[in-house]
Amino acid sequence: MALVVQKYGGTSVGTIERVKNVAHRVVATKEAGNEVVVVVSAMAGETNRLLALAREVMEAPDERESDVLLASGEQVSASLLTLAIKDLGQHARSFLGYQVRIETDSTYGRARIKSIDATRILRALKGGEIVVVAGFQGVDEEGNITTLGRGGSDTSAVALAAALSAGACEIYTDVDGVYTTDPSICPNARKLARISYDEMLEMASMGAKVLQIRSVELAKKFSVPVHVRSSFSDVAGTWLVEEDESMDAVLVSGVTYDKNEAKITVLKVPDRPGLAAQIFTPIAEANIVVDMIIQNASEDGTTDLTFTVPKEDYKKAISIVHEIAPAIQAKGVTVDPNIAKVSIVGVGMRAHAGVAAKMFQVLARGGINIEMISTSEIKVSVVIDEKYTELAVRVLHEAFIENQGSL
Ligand code: ADP
Ligand code: ASP
Ligand code: MG
Repeated sequence: MALVVQKYGGTSVGTIERVKNVAHRVVATKEAGNEVVVVVSAMAGETNRLLALAREVMEAPDERESDVLLASGEQVSASLLTLAIKDLGQHARSFLGYQVRIETDSTYGRARIKSIDATRILRALKGGEIVVVAGFQGVDEEGNITTLGRGGSDTSAVALAAALSAGACEIYTDVDGVYTTDPSICPNARKLARISYDEMLEMASMGAKVLQIRSVELAKKFSVPVHVRSSFSDVAGTWLVEEDESMDAVLVSGVTYDKNEAKITVLKVPDRPGLAAQIFTPIAEANIVVDMIIQNASEDGTTDLTFTVPKEDYKKAISIVHEIAPAIQAKGVTVDPNIAKVSIVGVGMRAHAGVAAKMFQVLARGGINIEMISTSEIKVSVVIDEKYTELAVRVLHEAFIENQGSL
């Protein structure tokens, strides 16, 4: 008997009708002779609704209490799905994170899973029950409720699949697989039958929200076979696999965008050793993750230092920089929250020169100004004005994917 972990995202359980549709799928999987563990997200929009409520009460909500609130979304959908399965005549039982015991660290809002005790799940499966687990949530050593960051149910599912040595982890969502770019903004996006863990990791890190980054990290680490597919149809989706030689032939396999960063510039910082450390140390201590950094030296012995941070953290970052600006004799601080990072990703880039140059040409032809650039072995990213995001994605997709091959 195979053990399958299935995860259903917010849209897939967004209404009672959809919850019932999911229940039918789960029951069919069970009746086909599998043991089934289901992970659910909160109903579509619920996490945002709860966040907004918290912010109405407290501008920057206390993180522990915010997690108590946010975790409730998944409690509702886990229970509703379990009821729907029972209504179809199957045995089922729901578990919250602390009941399974999905233990995490104590970083509220983006906790990391440390361990999973599968005993209760295994017992329920043995008793012939379908197990439904509330995604996105865990419990720390002290018993505090934690959440795993936006999109965290993907990570709950992959972690459970690893802990249970499941035959597959199926991620059911509102698109039928991983596409060459976000199909909701690029009509020519193509579905990929397979994608390597490394490329998926890079795409997720660069903003493709179809899978949470940590879920891909875990899938790679524990070699979990992940199948991303639609909860509304039966067509085959996209498999995450180890990289193989055929993949090198493809130069660029995906185009991504991320509108969740803001750009901060510290103006005219004296060009002296130690100043970057003075700026970035307190930012790191405030748990703010800095992404891109560039420094422009000028002739008068000062530099402008520009960097990006998650949009949700930029106010905190600005106030930190304002505090240290006088001490480092900076002339001022500017911020631009209306930026987007657009990236091209592909393992084939390792063996090819000229990919970045072509990307810049394509953007120039589209009249899109590049504000920052960063590269790694298998991706090139640029920061641009947010209002050109869709255009940039489309022209890059056309140049690198629809007309693949011609550099
Ligand atoms: P769920 O609620 O099921 O977790 P998400 O909204 O988190 O779903 O992720 C699915 C969405 O990811 C899709 O609707 C799509 O707009 C977006 N997306 C972004 N990039 C891609 C991509 N490369 N391939 C597929 N979907 C993508
Ligand atoms: N409900 C959470 C979110 O909206 C987790 C998830 O959907 O994976 O981010
Ligand atoms: Mg998601």
